Amino acid sequence: MKKSILILYTGGTIGMAKTPTGYQPTAGLLAKLMAEERVFQHADMPNYQIMEYAPLIDSSNMTPEHWNTLATDIVNAYDQYDGFVILHGTDTMAYTACALSFMIQGLNKPVILTGAQVSLVEAHSDARENLISALLLASRYCFPEVAILFNHYLLRGNRAHKIDSLGYNAFLSPNYPVLANVGSELVAHPELFCAPDQRPLATHQYQSIAMAHFYFFPGVDFKILEIVLDMPLKALLLHTYGSGNVPTYDQRIFSLLEKAIKRGLVIANVSQCLKGQVNMASYATGQALQQIGVISARDMTPEAATVKLQFLLSISHDPHWVRQQYGLDLRGELS
Ligand code: ASP
Repeated sequence: MKKSILILYTGGTIGMAKTPTGYQPTAGLLAKLMAEERVFQHADMPNYQIMEYAPLIDSSNMTPEHWNTLATDIVNAYDQYDGFVILHGTDTMAYTACALSFMIQGLNKPVILTGAQVSLVEAHSDARENLISALLLASRYCFPEVAILFNHYLLRGNRAHKIDSLGYNAFLSPNYPVLANVGSELVAHPELFCAPDQRPLATHQYQSIAMAHFYFFPGVDFKILEIVLDMPLKALLLHTYGSGNVPTYDQRIFSLLEKAIKRGLVIANVSQCLKGQVNMASYATGQALQQIGVISARDMTPEAATVKLQFLLSISHDPHWVRQQYGLDLRGELS
């Protein structure tokens, strides 16, 4: 029997039309173009239904409320479909993939996000290929995770990072292998999929969390860190050098950070390097952070390191619990 896939269409370049003020999402356009293309009616393709959101958005406008809506809609439609394809702008696709991977508990069907660098209205668009591949993969393989399909590669969603603002090979999974390749054959690697999630189906909701990022660079003025730490934050993500190192020539930063941690601020350390991982024990410049209670994002992407803090703090404001959960593997986001 043909499989049934629900397409949740949020916006993004994939269904944009050219307007006098630049490309913009256009209601109804994607459904019309798909209905006109014979390939989407091909015997090998699954049945699909489109749930189009209003308004369609450029993914720069994506918020945790949108994540909550998407997760709720997937959970509500869960029993009626074999899989889910989310059409989404590429700019924040990796954040949404992380968010859904953490928030949908008991997910045992594929959820694939895809989009395009060039709109389906253009002759040289990558939208058609991405959409076909996502629909085929979602209907052929019953994997229990949120993934991103882009340019013939299926990546674990909470391991993916956008690396190219123009090219078709827009996403990379720096610290976890590709889950499936789409070539003359579809080749999946089931041994790499997440284990089935035995918990009952449910969704956690994101709250608005006061969170900031601090990016180190040579010459950075620590007064800025002081100003940031004076704000009523719940979480701070430090973007550090290499395996989690920061300058030690001005010890003031450690006392500032330590005071904030003692006040209950959760401070995590993610590397500015995409590949490899934070290991604060390696160098004295990293150990100084570990000693005052900064937690490690290990080999998480910056997106996963961010969204995981938002997710955990949406469940509990207890900093001890958040610190302890942050180091656990929730849905394959860290090694
Ligand atoms: N700005 C667009 C978006 O993220 C880019 C894209 O779709 O690729 O919605």
